[in-house]
Amino acid sequence: MKMDFSDIFLSKGVNYFSDDVPLKAILSFLKIKPDRNLNSLGKFVSEELIEVSAIVDHYSRPVLQTWNITDDRLDAIWLSPDHSRMLQKMQELGVVRSAVETGAIANHFLSGYIISDPGFYCTLTLTAQTAYALQKYADPDTTSAFLPRYLDVADPWYGATYYTEIQGGSDLGANLACASFENGKWTINSDNKYFASNAGIADGAIVTARPAGSEAGTKGLAVFFVPARNSSGQLNYNVRRLKDKLGTISVPTGEVEMHGSEAYLLGDKKYGIYYAMEILMISRIDDAISAAGIARKALWESYLYACKRIAFEKRIIDQPLLLSDFLQMEADLEASTVLSLMAADMFSRASSMKPPYGEGYDRARVYSHIAKNNASWVSDSITRYCMEIFGGKGFLKEFPIEKFHRDSIVTSIWEGTSNIQALDLLALLLKKNIHVAIMEELLAGVRNLKDESWRIKVSASIQHEFDAIKKWLSGEDREIYAKDILNALGGAISLVQLFMLSDLDSSRRFTQVASIFYYKHFTDHVGMPASLLKSDAIQWMNRD
Ligand SMILES: Cc1cc2nc3c(=O)[nH]c(=O)nc-3n(C[C@H](O)[C@H](O)[C@H](O)COP(=O)(O)OP(=O)(O)OC[C@H]3O[C@@H](n4cnc5c(N)ncnc54)[C@H](O)[C@@H]3O)c2cc1C
Repeated sequence: MKMDFSDIFLSKGVNYFSDDVPLKAILSFLKIKPDRNLNSLGKFVSEELIEVSAIVDHYSRPVLQTWNITDDRLDAIWLSPDHSRMLQKMQELGVVRSAVETGAIANHFLSGYIISDPGFYCTLTLTAQTAYALQKYADPDTTSAFLPRYLDVADPWYGATYYTEIQGGSDLGANLACASFENGKWTINSDNKYFASNAGIADGAIVTARPAGSEAGTKGLAVFFVPARNSSGQLNYNVRRLKDKLGTISVPTGEVEMHGSEAYLLGDKKYGIYYAMEILMISRIDDAISAAGIARKALWESYLYACKRIAFEKRIIDQPLLLSDFLQMEADLEASTVLSLMAADMFSRASSMKPPYGEGYDRARVYSHIAKNNASWVSDSITRYCMEIFGGKGFLKEFPIEKFHRDSIVTSIWEGTSNIQALDLLALLLKKNIHVAIMEELLAGVRNLKDESWRIKVSASIQHEFDAIKKWLSGEDREIYAKDILNALGGAISLVQLFMLSDLDSSRRFTQVASIFYYKHFTDHVGMPASLLKSDAIQWMNRD
C-alpha cells in the first residue's frame, strides 16, 4: 500500500498563503499587494514541495558528478528529476522573475515566506540575485547575452554568489581572488571560494575579486559575472567538492576554484563592495523571511499535532502550560514576520537606487539587519521547541518536524553572522543617525494608539529601550553592545508595529498577540496574565 504524506504530516493540504490569517493582516497593514501566483504557490508548497524536500533531504541529496562518460571533467550536479521539477515549477510561479520586474521584488521576498525551505529557496534566491545584478549593473551586451537565460522558464539558468574564501566570510576584505584585464577581457584566479552554494548547478555566478593594482581591503574589491562555461563552451571554473551539511541539503554547497576564468565586470569597479553588499541584501532579507516561514510551518504542524495528542486525559493543546508556550511563540513569530516584510518593502522601494544610494536604501539596510537577526533566532528557537511538542517523536528522522530545525539553524550564519549584522548596524547608526528618525516615528506611532493604557505602557517601554540604545551608542565600549542595540531596536519596532496592527483589527485577536509580546519581552517577572490563555490567537490554524 502506498503511503500518503498526510499520514506523517498533518498540514498537507493547507494553503500556506491564503490560509495564513496573520500574514494577510500584516500584508494589508504594510500595504504590500501580493501577486496572484502566491495563492498557487501556497498550495503547491504544502501539496508537493514539503514532501519532495523531505525525500531529497533523506534519500536523494544532490551529487557532484565530476567526470562524464568519456572521462572529461564535468563538475555538474545530478539532481533527482523531482527536485528539478520543483525548482522549475517555482520559476514558473515567478519566484525569480519577480526580482527583476519593476516594482515586483516584494513578491519575490514574500514567496520565500511561503516556500520557507532555506535549501530550495536558496537555489532560487541566488538565481534571483544573479538576474538582479545582471539587469542593474552589467553592460548592455552582457545583460542581453545572459539575463534572458535566467528568465527562461522552459529551461532556466541558475545563479550563485561566490564571495567567501577559506580565510574569510565575514572579513571579505581578506579576499585573495584577483582579476586581470588583458586584450579587452577580464579573467579571475581564485584558489578557494570556500562556501559556494549552487556550485555545479549554477550556469553563472556573481563573484568578488580584486582587480590587479587595486587597494587592499573591501574598497579594492570589484564584482563580476562569471559563467560556468566560457565563450568556447569549455568549463570556466572547477567545483572541488561538496560540503557535508547539517541542513539545507537540497542546495549543494561546494568549493570553487578559478584559473583564468572569463569574467564580465559589473558596473564601476570603484563601487564593487557596494554592489556586493546590495546583492547580498536580497539574500539577507530572503533569509529573514524564509526563517519566519519555516517557523510558521513548524508551529502550524505542531499545533495540529497538539490538537490530536492526548496526555493526562486531555488534548495537550488544552494544557495551560503548553498553550502559553504556543501563544508566546505565535507573538514572537508575528513580530519576526512584520520585521522581515518591512525590510522587504523598504528594499523594494529603494531597489532603483545606485551607489552612493540615499536615505531609503540606508533604512532598508538597517531593517535587513534587524529582521535577519530577529527572524533567524526566533526561527531557531521555535523550530527547536516544536520538536519538543512532538515529544520523543520530534527527535526522530522518520517524521518531517526535525528537518525544519536543521534547516533553520543556518539562517543566523549565512549572509553574515549575527555579530556581523550587529557591527554593520552599529557603523550605520553612528554614521547616519538613522535610529533617531526611527525612534521619532515609533513615538509618533504610539501617540496614535487607540487604547490609552497601552499608549502609556508601550511608550514607557520603548523610551526605556531608546535610553539604553543612546547610552550604548555614546560609550567608548559601544562595540560590545552592538548586539544589544540590534535586539533593543528590533524589540521596540516589533512592539509598536504589533500594537499599530492591532488598531486596524476589530476582532481583538491582534491586541492579544501584541499584549503577549509585551508581557514576554517588556515586563520583569510579571509574566503573561492567565486571562490571555483564553485568547483566540492560534485557533485559526485549526483545520477541523
Ligand atoms: C551552508 C552554507 C552555505 C554558504 N553559501 C555561501 C555562498 O553561496 N556564497 C558565499 O559567498 N558564502 C557562503 N557561505 C559562507 C557564509 O556567508 C560564511 O560562512 C559566513 O559569512 C561566516 O563567515 P566565516 O565562515 O568565514 O566565519 P568567520 O568570519 O571566520 O567568523 C567566525 C566567528 O567569528 C565571528 N566574528 C568574525 N568577525 C567578528 C568581529 N569583528 N566581531 C565579533 N565577532 C566576529 C563571527 O560572528 C563568527 O561567529 C555559506 C555558509 C554556509 C554555512
